[in-house]
Amino acid sequence: MVVAGGGFTGIETAADMPQRLRAVFGDSADIRVLIVEQAADIGPDLGPGPRPVILEALGALGVEIRTSARVSAIDATGVTLEGGEHIAAATVVWTAGARANALAAQVPGEHDRYGRLVSDAELRASEAPAIFVAGDVVQAATDDLGNVAVMSCQHALSLGRVAGHNAAAELVGLPTARYSQPKYVTCLDLGPWGAVYTEGWDRQVKLRGQEAKALKRAINTQWIYPPAADRDAALALADPYYVIVP
Ligand SMILES: Cc1cc2nc3c(=O)[nH]c(=O)nc-3n(C[C@H](O)[C@H](O)[C@H](O)COP(=O)(O)OP(=O)(O)OC[C@H]3O[C@@H](n4cnc5c(N)ncnc54)[C@H](O)[C@@H]3O)c2cc1C
Repeated sequence: MVVAGGGFTGIETAADMPQRLRAVFGDSADIRVLIVEQAADIGPDLGPGPRPVILEALGALGVEIRTSARVSAIDATGVTLEGGEHIAAATVVWTAGARANALAAQVPGEHDRYGRLVSDAELRASEAPAIFVAGDVVQAATDDLGNVAVMSCQHALSLGRVAGHNAAAELVGLPTARYSQPKYVTCLDLGPWGAVYTEGWDRQVKLRGQEAKALKRAINTQWIYPPAADRDAALALADPYYVIVP
């Protein structure tokens, strides 16, 4: 299996594949999982902080890595790299980047390199103030230091709260809220090896292995899980000033 793209999604996919393939083909199966990444390092957007942990985990899982290699074509026999080298693969998983929904292009105003609309602090589209934007289609400042939201549940949840509140508040003449989310964390799943949890925009490793994996499970099954179908509970969670983790 070739995983094209060694970012968040590619690393998580590849880390889980050896155990899944062995579950299907048996423990003695001759399997090979290879990440192909165009940048010089695995997880280029993750930065150097968690990289040693990622390399340790992928090494222990037997996942191979090919950096400074750009996929130029995919066919039924595998992938071809720029330069002409062909890598045979039974399966190719394409994880080379996310884009904002194409509808965002129809809203006038500045868009970033992902196609996201740049917003003001109250999440209005920069040149279409009647439109509030949230989640994966907005580039919003998370603090006064120049950091902006990334395409993540962590940011999407707060962005949704503030944009929803502001759209309703403006209609009925109530005060609107400013979006602010200075705390930033990352929890990257690393298959059966565990996970790596970092804090801050420089991604300082705080937890690794099974300890981080337990946190990852809690995030996915509790923290970012949709609220119960209960009006009061849902409205409490929709408060624009609600903080998931202080
Ligand atoms: C493989 C993968 C793993 C991820 N893992 C993590 C993680 O571990 N932690 C994390 O924080 N983030 C993670 N993310 C990112 C996270 O899922 C997104 O940032 C988040 O879901 C964005 O929320 P959203 O509401 O903006 O968009 P979405 O969750 O994508 O919701 C958009 C919804 O709009 C619907 N829709 C689209 N077009 C239309 C239309 N024209 N009309 C009506 N409905 C429409 C879609 O069907 C969809 O239901 C991951 C993403 C991927 C792809």
